[in-house]
Amino acid sequence: MRTKILITNDDGFYALGIKELEVGLAGLGELTIVAPDREQSASGHSLTLQHPLRINERSPNHYTVDGTPTDCVFLGVNHIMRTRRPDLVISGINRGGNLGDDITYSGTVAAAFEATLLGIPALAVSLDIAREHHFSTASRVACEVAGKVLEHGIPVDTLLNVNVPDRPWEKLAGFRITRQGKRSYSDVVRENVDPRGRHYYWIGGEVMQGEDLKGTDAALVRDGFVSITPIHLDLTNHQALEPLENWEWSC
Ligand code: MN
Repeated sequence: MRTKILITNDDGFYALGIKELEVGLAGLGELTIVAPDREQSASGHSLTLQHPLRINERSPNHYTVDGTPTDCVFLGVNHIMRTRRPDLVISGINRGGNLGDDITYSGTVAAAFEATLLGIPALAVSLDIAREHHFSTASRVACEVAGKVLEHGIPVDTLLNVNVPDRPWEKLAGFRITRQGKRSYSDVVRENVDPRGRHYYWIGGEVMQGEDLKGTDAALVRDGFVSITPIHLDLTNHQALEPLENWEWSC
């Protein structure tokens, strides 16, 4: 039976990254695209429960949803592809890296989380945009990693967070399995005044250049490697259990 792959993203159905991903994966199986009808970056693992959702079929196997990336995976798996669930879910290619702490905000990674919760192997693929936007490099990387996942499988409750440096394929330094690193931003709040005299606030902030920890996603991508981080759904800090267990409680 032909491999079925569900593709989604958080940059929206019309983003360049998802188009490039579709091109790169064409040989790997039957593709179904279910993506938000507009940009949903930094939407995290948000599921729409307070209003109805609409699915629009744009062309055969291409759907938009007026919701979040998580909604897209949920509706894709449980409705659009309900007669035969996908063998793999791939989210991306995000315009911008999802490194270190970024993953808690990321709609791209959350979509892969959702697939993992539904018991389907999943990848999140992001291009760490510098200047040139080499989506074709990331697309080729996605195809290679997806092929390995279909061949070997991945451990349960785990997704792969893949980050690709923004450079031509020939200039990649290689593939590395990495740990989740740290990322610091300058926490900027821009205050301004709207045409009606009311104040508004815009959250921004640039990535700060810092010393990235050795062996982490951010460090390896900076050095030109494709970074592949296995992310676990268990968010427990196991090292913190012991000190907390020593606290004394009133009952
Ligand atoms: Mn995005």
